[in-house]
Amino acid sequence: MDRDLSVVFDADHDELAEHFERATHRGREYFYLPDERHGVERGTVVTGDAIVRGFPSIPRVLVLDPGIPDFFEGPVTIEEKLNGYNVRIARVDGDVLAFTRSGYVCPFTTSLAAEYPLDVFFDDYPETVVCGELIGPENPYTTHDYEEVEEAALRVFDLRNRETGDPVSVDRRRERCDAYDLPAVPAFGTHEPDAAVDAIRDAIADLDERGREGVVVKSADGRRTVKYTTSAIHRADLAHAFDKPFDYGRQFLFARVIREAFQSVEFGEDEDTARQRARDMGEAILLPAIESIRAVEQGESIGDTHTVRGDPATIESLLNRFRAVGLHLDIEKDTYEDGDRVVRFTKVADASRDKIGHFLSGGTIDE
Ligand code: ATP
Ligand code: MG
Repeated sequence: MDRDLSVVFDADHDELAEHFERATHRGREYFYLPDERHGVERGTVVTGDAIVRGFPSIPRVLVLDPGIPDFFEGPVTIEEKLNGYNVRIARVDGDVLAFTRSGYVCPFTTSLAAEYPLDVFFDDYPETVVCGELIGPENPYTTHDYEEVEEAALRVFDLRNRETGDPVSVDRRRERCDAYDLPAVPAFGTHEPDAAVDAIRDAIADLDERGREGVVVKSADGRRTVKYTTSAIHRADLAHAFDKPFDYGRQFLFARVIREAFQSVEFGEDEDTARQRARDMGEAILLPAIESIRAVEQGESIGDTHTVRGDPATIESLLNRFRAVGLHLDIEKDTYEDGDRVVRFTKVADASRDKIGHFLSGGTIDE
């Protein structure tokens, strides 16, 4: 590692450095921190002279009132929280690299980043890391669809100094994205904290109706942020988890039950509305689980299906990486379209499939 970490972080260099993993991307060596250590964010990367800080965790409020007025002192901007995967893009020694949340240089996302005018941006802001959500139907990590995007697409929600992690203010960031043709996340206006409560409720009602995830509320300087999500995404998350019921922890279910319960109370739901919410949630949990047990009973495989498209070398290194980290892939389609390799694959949910199989054949459970 070329950099002395103790100069940048409040930690002993050797103690911190031992937690970094070494990896390479196209011959470039880099080190990434897969878990938070000594107060340094998960996903922090060191490569050559550059340090790219991990993306910080965003706290959640369970009630908007008084959650929002208590958390913020001045005006806040309401931005849409998009449901894809977090990506940080930086230029190091002339190479534009895209890092996943845990700091791995993703070849697929790196190649996608080349479709945006990032070089022009980095010519003017070389020390900036562009943080955004990668959304869209054709990506290797998430399965949420957005009607307005047809292929994998970037939406920027932060510009930060890559070494200090300091964000550019919300207004300046949105202007800069505009000026450099970098697509930004949708926004729902700026309000004083008290007035923001109603504006967020309106935004949430609209997003919920459209099956979208929620909002991230930000102070003008971009330093304080909280998130709040729709019932639609709570159900979608549950449905997504329970078609592989043994692949997700129980904490995942509990967190969403609690979010729904607080939302029902805050929205002042009458008995019928609350009962309907309860039914919808129950269906989101149980029906996918039932369907998956049936699928296993019939010898079908279960898991998330993704399609990826890109230059053959990129797709090959993505699939190799997945296999190297132990994912079991079922390749359902593997063709070439206009020089791109197009692969549809399922990340087979082995743990759930095996457990379901075990119980279907009469296995016992200790509970
Ligand atoms: P953590 O709890 O560590 O943040 P997580 O992935 O579970 O991890 P999420 O509930 O998905 O967290 O919420 C935070 C993520 O939301 C961010 O990491 C970012 O990828 C995503 N996101 C989407 N839209 C925005 C936005 N407008 N502003 C900030 N983050 C956004
Ligand atoms: Mg997310």
